[in-house]
Amino acid sequence: MALIVQKYGGTSIGTVERIQNVAHKIKKWREQGNELVIVVSAMSGETNRLIGLAQQITNHPNPRELDMILTTGEQVTIGLLAIALESIGVPAISFTGQQVGILTDQSFNKARIQSIDNKKIRAELDAGKVVVIAGFQGVDEQGNLTTLGRGGSDTTGVALAAALKADECQIYTDVDGVYTTDPRVVPKARRLDRISFDEMLEMASLGSKVLQIRSVEFASKYKVRLRVLSTFEENPQGTLICSEEELMENPVISGIAFSRDEAKLTVLGVPDRPGIAYAILKPISDANIEVDMIIQNQSVAGTTDFTFTVSRNDCDKALAILKTHATEMGAKEVLSDKGIVKVSLVGIGMRSHAGVAARMFEVLFNEGVNIEMISTTEIKISVVIREGELERAVQSLHAAFDLE
Ligand code: ASP
Ligand code: MG
Repeated sequence: MALIVQKYGGTSIGTVERIQNVAHKIKKWREQGNELVIVVSAMSGETNRLIGLAQQITNHPNPRELDMILTTGEQVTIGLLAIALESIGVPAISFTGQQVGILTDQSFNKARIQSIDNKKIRAELDAGKVVVIAGFQGVDEQGNLTTLGRGGSDTTGVALAAALKADECQIYTDVDGVYTTDPRVVPKARRLDRISFDEMLEMASLGSKVLQIRSVEFASKYKVRLRVLSTFEENPQGTLICSEEELMENPVISGIAFSRDEAKLTVLGVPDRPGIAYAILKPISDANIEVDMIIQNQSVAGTTDFTFTVSRNDCDKALAILKTHATEMGAKEVLSDKGIVKVSLVGIGMRSHAGVAARMFEVLFNEGVNIEMISTTEIKISVVIREGELERAVQSLHAAFDLE
């Protein structure tokens, strides 16, 4: 007998009919002798609708009150799913996050789970029930309801799997797994059977939107076997996200991620002296703008250029900040550029293979794609290129690294 946590996303339970369909799937799993804990999202579109209601009153609703509203979305689907299960003879009981002791910190709208009390869930499982739990929500020490950030039901699922020491956490969604790259850009992109936590973290942080990134961090930390699979297929295999020991083989490259949400800022002709990087980036970080890649040129005649990337919607704000500080930094000019994208190769096999970067640059050179910035980690190489060259770059890299 296995204990399985299954999480169903908004599309999977977007109508009453789909909820009934999910109930039948759960029934099958149970008949195979598994214990089941089910986590659900709100029906698709519901969380946005609720935010919209609050925003009809003000653009900046009180975060505590917003969470009060948002937690209702999942409260509807747990009740409906429990009713659907009972109606086909499956004993079930639903709980809100608060009722099963999902304790979070106090950061409304983006709370972090601190602990989960698994006793109540365990008792209901022992009584033979399927336990249905509201995703995306918890309660703080003062008893305020909190939510975990958009897409947070994934994290609820993984956290419950960790707390219950489940055999697997299955994330049911509208895609059938994690792909080598976005199939809209490369039609020959392939579903991966397995991928390591570290690779998935890179893919998720680089824009592959299959899972909330925090859920992957959680899974990696607590070694929760995590599977992404389609609700709409009969016997889906999906993609297993697991520790490296469980991988059968280590291809050099597992996937190609890319992000269009990039912009670059350049500060020209600043004096090359201690404190200059700090002077440039401190006001940026004070404004809560996240900086990604950073490059400082070799200095010429005592001055240097400093370039960094931010997400595109932070670009204007960052430019304005740099301009107000330009004189005190001694900069000649400040430039911004929203026409860039980032393309990254990800693979743990890179650790043991030399020459991946050179091969990547060769492929881009053959395509006539100019590289503007480069950054690397142990398992990732990222380049910044012009936006118009994204498709060509990703397609040629996908072919060159045998991902089809
Ligand atoms: N319902 C929430 C959202 O739309 C949480 C989730 O679906 O994971 O973000
Ligand atoms: Mg989601």
